[in-house]
Amino acid sequence: MKKIKLLAVIFTATIFITSCEKDNTNESVKEENNQSIYWETTDPDIIASINKEIESKIKNNKIQIETYRNFRLQIDNNTPDDIIDLIKQEIDQVYSASGLKGSTISKMDDVGSIHLAPTGYRGLYYSGNRVVINDYGTFRRVKRNVSNVVFHELTHYYHDYHLPGGYGNREVTNNYNQALSGNIYPRNPYVLRNKVEYLGTSAEAYFSGTNRQPYDRATVRRKDPNLASFLDNNF
Ligand SMILES: [Zn+2]
Repeated sequence: MKKIKLLAVIFTATIFITSCEKDNTNESVKEENNQSIYWETTDPDIIASINKEIESKIKNNKIQIETYRNFRLQIDNNTPDDIIDLIKQEIDQVYSASGLKGSTISKMDDVGSIHLAPTGYRGLYYSGNRVVINDYGTFRRVKRNVSNVVFHELTHYYHDYHLPGGYGNREVTNNYNQALSGNIYPRNPYVLRNKVEYLGTSAEAYFSGTNRQPYDRATVRRKDPNLASFLDNNF
């Protein structure tokens, strides 16, 4: 009798462990595990450290400004030429994006700068009126796919500074909450990580295309028609 009980316990435990493993397997299928999709710097300590170094270099006149189509690029002698070229191509794409209003671009070009010079830590992010793109290896890798890193980061700036209520903008927040509860995109994707990435990644898909969900304008229109209208009206 004892033996049977023991066997029953082992059997139950095995089922439990197996189902846990299964959950982990499902986790590993998450979109985030694809390196080409997960490129943005999110660690606040790394961002703070890079920002501090940039401030110090600017103070000591170690940074030059190159203006390209109303955008201020911060560079130095160690900024690779191919990176500057890729950034200019992305800016050109912003100007030629179908449906993006000139008035929106002229708000976006109010961003303090797009920083391309190297720092100790490297990153790809928007923070405090500045876009930083100096993790060159990651940026080159992202650029092998459909993407527009500059536009994605400028959308964060635009959300922060130019939409009513900034990051607290109600329409964005409401649409995000609906997208999240309606589970409109499968596999826990980057676009549903938070309301800032929701707008950044959706706008990137809508106006330039991206290799992660929601990929393109047609998908945003089909899966998230309210946000598509918002982008039409506010961008
Ligand atoms: Zn982002």
